[in-house]
Amino acid sequence: MMRCYIIGDPVSHSFSPYLHNKVYQQLGIGNEFEYSAVRVQPSELEKAVADMRAADVRGVSVTIPHKMSVMQYLDVVDPLAEQIGAVNTIVNENGVLHGYNTDAEGVIGPILQRTRTTTLSGKKVLLIGAGGAARAAAFAFQKAGIEVLVIANRTTEKAREITDALAAEIEKHVVTLQNAQVDDFDIIFNATSVGMGAKDNQDTPLPDVQFNSSQIVFDAVYVPHETQLLKDAKRDGATVIHGIEMLGTQAIGQIQHFTGRSVSIETVTDILKEKI
Ligand code: NAP
Repeated sequence: MMRCYIIGDPVSHSFSPYLHNKVYQQLGIGNEFEYSAVRVQPSELEKAVADMRAADVRGVSVTIPHKMSVMQYLDVVDPLAEQIGAVNTIVNENGVLHGYNTDAEGVIGPILQRTRTTTLSGKKVLLIGAGGAARAAAFAFQKAGIEVLVIANRTTEKAREITDALAAEIEKHVVTLQNAQVDDFDIIFNATSVGMGAKDNQDTPLPDVQFNSSQIVFDAVYVPHETQLLKDAKRDGATVIHGIEMLGTQAIGQIQHFTGRSVSIETVTDILKEKI
């Protein structure tokens, strides 16, 4: 049996053990792979990474607060994960630890599925937020070939740190949320935690805004399933993408890395919806 697990602190709330084990069973590999949650405190991280080199460990998911600090202990880090500055997936290849970031694919995959294109060339994107999810999104959007990235965040210096790290070819600006001209954008991506929590939470990062039917509005928040931002976007006829698809797509990337097997987004989101 090959072991996979998620490390984090806290980690008991994670959906990953439920999701991965369900998928392994559905793929008929439940007797080859098992997935668990391991609480690792920051002071225990170096030892935890050493343990990942064991012959029966195949893959490890990484969550808060280790996504950045774990990188220093890995042998090989994928270039996109290096740019983002965070690893959420570690694969043990015969004692050599490789780090990847599948959060980026979780942002771009669902959008490309809607646009039915292979790149986002020419697109103008409003990215709301400047934390970990926003940073992954920014580099994912850059890799997908967008033309303009505008970041709106409560703390504008954090947004500027991200735009400063992006390539010169991409047009990028920092604005305040109040000054964001939503009409100008093809894609609006919320990477703040605004709207997260109870089912009836009416908070939205863009109150009193009118969307339009040519826009894609994507919310990283997945609890509740349909945030106020997505309700407003739906009301105005925009294409909406739920956070659960980002969660599911990044997990599909991890399952592929760990087991070499593919699984559909429908399968994964059905399993996640049961849990959420
Ligand atoms: P993070 O690093 O802590 O960043 C939080 C972001 O939210 C920052 O931009 C912060 O602004 C902003 N923010 C928080 N409270 C705010 C408020 N009251 N008003 C305005 N802005 C506020 O968190 P993260 O890891 O990036 O996660 C952000 C959200 O994405 C969370 O809801 C998380 O669950 C979700 N997420 C979803 C997925 C998925 O797979 N669907 C993956 C990762 C994250 P400041 O910089 O000004 O503090």
